[in-house]
Amino acid sequence: MKSPNKALFLYFCGMAQEQDKFKQVISHAKEYGYIFSSSEIYDGLSAVYDYGQNGVELKNNIKAYWWKSMVQLHEEIVGLDAAILMHPNTWKASGHVDAFNDPMIDNRDSKKRYRADVLVEDYVEKLEQKAQKEIAKAKKRFGDQFDEQEFVTTHPRVVKYRRQSKEILSRLAKSLTDEDLADVKALIEELEIACPVSGSRDWTNVKQFNLMFGTKLGASAESASDLYLRPETAQGIFVNFSNVQKTGRMKVPFGIAQIGKAFRNEIVARQFIFRQREFEQMEMQYFVRPGEELKWFEHWKEVRTKWHKSLGLGEENYRFHDHEKMAHYANAATDIEFNFPFGFKELEGIHSRTDFDLKAHENLSGKKLQFYDPELGENYVPYVIETSIGLDRMFLAVFSSALQEETLEDGSSRTVLKIPSVLAPVKAAIFPLLKKDGLPEIAQSILKDLQWDFNVIYDEKDAVGRRYRRQDAAGTPFCITVDHDTKEDQCVTIRHRDTMEQKRVPITEVKAIIQKDIDFRTWLDF
Ligand code: ATP
Repeated sequence: MKSPNKALFLYFCGMAQEQDKFKQVISHAKEYGYIFSSSEIYDGLSAVYDYGQNGVELKNNIKAYWWKSMVQLHEEIVGLDAAILMHPNTWKASGHVDAFNDPMIDNRDSKKRYRADVLVEDYVEKLEQKAQKEIAKAKKRFGDQFDEQEFVTTHPRVVKYRRQSKEILSRLAKSLTDEDLADVKALIEELEIACPVSGSRDWTNVKQFNLMFGTKLGASAESASDLYLRPETAQGIFVNFSNVQKTGRMKVPFGIAQIGKAFRNEIVARQFIFRQREFEQMEMQYFVRPGEELKWFEHWKEVRTKWHKSLGLGEENYRFHDHEKMAHYANAATDIEFNFPFGFKELEGIHSRTDFDLKAHENLSGKKLQFYDPELGENYVPYVIETSIGLDRMFLAVFSSALQEETLEDGSSRTVLKIPSVLAPVKAAIFPLLKKDGLPEIAQSILKDLQWDFNVIYDEKDAVGRRYRRQDAAGTPFCITVDHDTKEDQCVTIRHRDTMEQKRVPITEVKAIIQKDIDFRTWLDF
């Protein structure tokens, strides 16, 4: 069948597969104690999630992996843990009170609210998917002869899709920069974008919506002052610039890093932990000489890319997206996008934030936020390169790419969560083959010893095969089984989750085997 209907059918099958995979990710995350809906017994809270017994470990391990690489392996970068609540002037200076808005639009029939820019971007994504399909088809047809570069610049349909995408995105960028919301609506109408729920094109006007959560400080309503829950962690770093620089005797270039909660009252909060109203960021602000920022921007792009690739989640799952529309503070910006189960989306932002923030805080606070550069013999407000990654999005990237269904040689299948061992919540599960003959005691003593070095668990329920499967699905890289021979030879069977290979090793070697596999040095030494 060559009809367009078949193409459409395949396209929707692809989408259905993506949705199935995504559903599987969500249910697996719950079933294995990774992620629960917040306050689930009260039917949950929209776009807020809790991390369960395995989730908290994975989250902590991602934080440690980032902190080791960004802070402890850089002499010129130090950490900070600033409060979530900050003086309200912080958000005036940063521009968040006036400009931290998303353009929203309602569909009158479904009563659903959307981000207007996201509706347009989704449309463009569909054009790109069509282009990719043409490329894939041609690749299949021409095999080794296929010259992708030539194809994408000459094939009429691919050229048309890409030209349209470019035109649409630059018009969107211009109307958002000019705050021309009427034109954003006009664009949605011209592209005949329909509400994904009702299929209708009956849209309201586009309006701006501020994403900050407000709260109050103080006991009585009259004396209370208005505060915001921070929408990004970066400002805690900027207001502490001088504190850290002076007390740490830091010299430009240097960085301050922080991991912490941020809050945004997102208009469209869907896609599980990808877009939440309460989430965590891992951010680093790197202070550089004015004029050198673009060199450092390229540097950090490269370093952060290497960090991502070090985890082996698949090189093809990453791409850069350079911004058409910059945030009000930036002179260069790119996103590192990841191929989530619902397509490529932003995982990390790298921004050249100029001296916007430090200058704005200087102006409003009246305090100098400058650096005396002994080599130049002058004071200046440093420029800033920011690397900002969502911890929850990183969690989703790791978890969704790790979850796999495998068909084994004997035709049976297994569900396995191939989380990189350095991040795995539980490093090893220790089993006695049987619940008798002194085997549990030996297994317990191995557990007690390994507990000092790793997060390990003990399991004696069910047949060993089932215990292996349970640990495969939970993401545990090693299983260690004590059997009757252990009593004679002081050896155990160690099985690796990914290869399913089993080896008999002396108990005394177990610690070193695990240690080698999860050592930061092995993973991060790029
Ligand atoms: P998006 O365009 O997806 O809304 P953003 O460009 O507003 O993201 P930034 O302000 O650059 O995001 O924030 C830095 C990082 O924080 C993002 O790359 C993302 O990983 C994470 N992040 C931002 N908003 C959320 C959210 N609502 N839920 C989870 N993570 C988020």
